[in-house]
Amino acid sequence: MTAQDVKPPAASQQVPILPETAPFAPEQRAWLNGFFAGLLSVEAVPGAAPLTGALPAAAATALAGDGDDGEAPWHDPAMAIGERMKLAEPRPMRRKLFAAMAQQDCGQCGYLCDTYAEALASGAEKKQNLCAPGGKETSRMLKKLMEEAASAPAPTGAASAADAAPAAPAKAKEQAKPGYHRDLPVTASFRAATRITGAASEKDARHVVFDIASSGIDYAPGDSFGLMPLNDPALVDAILASMRAPADFPMSDGKTLRTTLIEDYALGTPPDILFELVSYMVGGDRRKKAKALAKGLDPDGDADRFDVLAVLETFGPIHPDPEAFLECLEPLQPRLYSISSSPLATPGELHLTVDAVRYDMGKRRRLGVASTFLADRVAPGSPAKVYIQKAHGFALPADSMTPIIMVGPGTGVAPFRSFLWQRHALKAQGTAIGKSWLFFGHQREATDFFYRDELEAFAASATLTHLSTAWSRDGEAKVYVQDRMRERGHEIWSWLKAGAHFYVCGDAKRMAKDVETVLTDIAADHGSMSKPAAIDFLLELKEAGRYQADVY
Ligand code: NAP
Repeated sequence: MTAQDVKPPAASQQVPILPETAPFAPEQRAWLNGFFAGLLSVEAVPGAAPLTGALPAAAATALAGDGDDGEAPWHDPAMAIGERMKLAEPRPMRRKLFAAMAQQDCGQCGYLCDTYAEALASGAEKKQNLCAPGGKETSRMLKKLMEEAASAPAPTGAASAADAAPAAPAKAKEQAKPGYHRDLPVTASFRAATRITGAASEKDARHVVFDIASSGIDYAPGDSFGLMPLNDPALVDAILASMRAPADFPMSDGKTLRTTLIEDYALGTPPDILFELVSYMVGGDRRKKAKALAKGLDPDGDADRFDVLAVLETFGPIHPDPEAFLECLEPLQPRLYSISSSPLATPGELHLTVDAVRYDMGKRRRLGVASTFLADRVAPGSPAKVYIQKAHGFALPADSMTPIIMVGPGTGVAPFRSFLWQRHALKAQGTAIGKSWLFFGHQREATDFFYRDELEAFAASATLTHLSTAWSRDGEAKVYVQDRMRERGHEIWSWLKAGAHFYVCGDAKRMAKDVETVLTDIAADHGSMSKPAAIDFLLELKEAGRYQADVY
């Protein structure tokens, strides 16, 4: 729930707890009045706003009383964790926890990065392994910080060991409807995953279609789709064979061990505790190595080659008890994809654009869980557990006439296909639409220009004003989307001056960072400003919601 969602109580019912002169916005005042009403046990009075919802930032700071200024200089997905933690060093624990997250605000954990941190600090959330893009790096840091907090002396007057945490932001789940939270999935029907890259392409990109007509969910362009995948049964069988466990070993919930491993547990990156379990089952150098890996060390430089099966095979033969083994695994997490369809253009359907991830590691082929579930294993017509992850600050402008500039190489084009179909459908209904510009790039024009027909038809019908493409492996030198942006810097600047919104979607670590650098250069060169002024200009664009990123 956001601050805007908090409805202030009717004036006649208001419980006047905070003085009118207190420096809070109406929604902050409503939240705080609700908080104090709860604290003073006046909950029977109907005027108090409920004790739920995200605490508005200013109110959180005021309540926490920990002197933190609410700034988050580490909130940059391209920044390394070491640098982020350094920036958060002098901050209270709840802010350090925030800095440990991957900073992508991807929503996969069911929160945003800062609200997940606040929930951990307050004790409302116990799980420290929910940050999928942060992976082990984040969960290790969270564990370390929480252990530090638990062993620190309690601050005077504060009850919680996680130092001065403000009131718990209630998990979004409590307010979510079925189909709008990872813990409340609904059923949709899978229709197809059609290959959209040429046979000679190095990528196997798929256009995925789900039937959501009877699932009770809807979405807006910019939203993401959460999918609960199933593990590859062949991988599960190899694990069972390696640990010599019977597939039909009965679990307490009535499922077999095999089904449990397919449906419920992550079989990719092994948790530290699995190495710990193994270290108690083997001896000598193998024991030393397992102990080191359990501590996050990498004595032989091969730590990133392990998945769960590789642990069993490398340290085997080992035959852990199935229950002990499962206790050392993490739950299988849902995967999020940007939606690439428009609810206006294709009602009742939901489309995704997904790269099937397959690569070789040693003698074994490794498979991306959800992408190959969609590409290879789920049959058309099969049900799947899904949910909509509403976008936080990634959407078409409210005014359909506002110009938009979209940068989306590879499958990063997904949300922009949605934007374009939406504007196309609006136009067909008689709504005037503004100018739009898409920068799309991929490896090779002949094999990787997916959605070419659609995009060229959009350009021909003026739904799309400009289509700029960059093929990185067609020529001698690499050409990327940001090179095309630089070539058209003058025009991009004039679009921005005319109020255009700028969007980027795709790889967070390199592409999105490089695109931002080029946009800063364009502002400096064509807006005749210094570099620091250009950086400020981009900051202002972001604050005004005119620079939006959907990056993983
Ligand atoms: P990709 O591997 O990112 O490659 C697409 C193009 O980008 C290639 O031509 C590649 O060139 C180029 N590229 C590489 N480094 C670049 C850089 N620093 N700046 C600009 N371009 C660069 O394509 P993909 O496999 O389709 O992956 C797309 C990314 O989007 C992934 O990171 C994915 O997680 C993310 N994403 C996907 C979705 C979705 O719903 N599908 C949503 C949000 C984000 P070379 O490889 O030739 O160098």
